[in-house]
Amino acid sequence: MGNTATSQSNLSFKLIDEKHDATDVIATAESIDLYMGECLDDKSNSLARQECIYSPNGIARYEKEAYEEMLRVKLQQIPQRLRIDLSEIFILNLMPSAEGGMPHTRPPNVICYPDLSRLSSTSTLIHELWHVHQRKYSEKWRQIFKQLGWEEWLGELPGGLEKYRRYNPDTIDCPLWIYRGKWVPVPVFQSVTQPKMGEVNMWFYTPNGGYHVTSTPSELALAYRGLPLTAYENPREITAYMLSEPTKYVYSSAFNELVKLVGHTSVSH
Ligand SMILES: [Zn+2]
Repeated sequence: MGNTATSQSNLSFKLIDEKHDATDVIATAESIDLYMGECLDDKSNSLARQECIYSPNGIARYEKEAYEEMLRVKLQQIPQRLRIDLSEIFILNLMPSAEGGMPHTRPPNVICYPDLSRLSSTSTLIHELWHVHQRKYSEKWRQIFKQLGWEEWLGELPGGLEKYRRYNPDTIDCPLWIYRGKWVPVPVFQSVTQPKMGEVNMWFYTPNGGYHVTSTPSELALAYRGLPLTAYENPREITAYMLSEPTKYVYSSAFNELVKLVGHTSVSH
């Protein structure tokens, strides 16, 4: 994950304001992760996204200048680890309905905002940057997740869980993980007939028993104290949540272990 020289910074932001450039960036991302294709091929995921428009939205010149200035200031507040390990990041402005309005990332270095005013949140920007980092250094992260008790799970979910599982662009290349050989978190649409992007339950499947529970298993709740339920869906989400708002998780044993593994520069700038 790069070296740890304190003054070094390789990170920069490029706001893509031309729609045709943004369309090219999305096409390149799609050729790598096939995310839109996978959503379209799945009944629940395409239904949930039927009102989502993922096309680029225009950026007026005055907006562009204001957001670029905002990003210049934010750069100083980004943890050192990210500033050293990442280089140019493309920022895209999508239509407000894209991905249910949620900021998200696409490969290899793209952060998509359905609402550019969300750029004002430093923690959201840091959260998304960790997703870019997790893709770029996926093998290193695999080792970190292993130390934290997580391994990718390549088994098959029971039909009912797989059929209503909500896809996530930040985890589409490795969606299912098992915690300490027992629990596989699965984000499941609340409604079978009218799945909605923002209406998802977190269920925890145990392959050995062949059943699932609908509340957080105690061993997870203890290690990941303070974590919102939605974050449990994938160790990429868990770690992005914790590293982007570190002061919330000082009492979590997993957070302290994580900072040891990724280094203190992951939470300081
Ligand atoms: Zn995320």
